[in-house]
Amino acid sequence: MSAPGAGAQAEDARALELAERLAAVQERIRVASTAAMRPQPRLVVVTKFFPASDVRVLAGLGVLDVGENRDQEAAAKAAELEDLALRWHFVGQLQTKKARSVARYASAVHSVDRVPLVGALDRAVAQERERRRTEGLADRAALACFLQFALDDDAAPGGRGGASLQEAEVLAEAVLASEVLDLAGVMAVAPREMPPAVAFERLMHISATVRTVEPGATAVSAGMSGDLEEAVAAGATHLRIGSDVLGPRPVVG
Ligand SMILES: *Cc1c(COP(=O)(O)O)cnc(C)c1O
Repeated sequence: MSAPGAGAQAEDARALELAERLAAVQERIRVASTAAMRPQPRLVVVTKFFPASDVRVLAGLGVLDVGENRDQEAAAKAAELEDLALRWHFVGQLQTKKARSVARYASAVHSVDRVPLVGALDRAVAQERERRRTEGLADRAALACFLQFALDDDAAPGGRGGASLQEAEVLAEAVLASEVLDLAGVMAVAPREMPPAVAFERLMHISATVRTVEPGATAVSAGMSGDLEEAVAAGATHLRIGSDVLGPRPVVG
């Protein structure tokens, strides 16, 4: 048996670790933004694989935006942390059949990469609004949609993990046609085989294309733990940081 208070001590140690890691990441963002002479992007802390208790600690440290990449895990955590005013960002591959669930808790989806998914999200958010109305719950803002693009040289239309540049206008128009979706901007993950600066320049070019369709769609979700400086320099407005805030992800077998 562990000594009395051992659990509480472990919790304190974890809270201290999260506070230190978060402060270090915030400092990196501050330094990078100053160097690039750009406003500081919003930090979305990606909490996948880490428990709701960590998210609660982060909320206590002032984190408002959290990211998740699997619906089951996100739905459970959002339900457990319903008392906190958190904004949940869905950042992973999204199957159309999960749209209904995601619409219940998410404020933003960063992985909108095909027209059928836009349709599914439109119906899901409309249904969710209707449910809230019937149950006398407060109305929710439109779901912020980031169009996800693949940045590889051979990014083909319809490929996994992001649309191609050729699809940008059609996707943007699809989101704009919805009354319950809001076109926030674009998102990408830098491919491994490419310098992040090159990848993010490509994303900024795609962002310019999307803005010819909707000038208000200025958000750029780019930058993870390993490449946040390059993302800030390129003009990211949202950073999605996981491991540098939470620590190495547990290995799942
Ligand atoms: C996990 C994940 C992140 C965070 O990655 P880190 O390298 O841990 O910072 C960002 N974006 C997406 C889409 C992710 O799945």
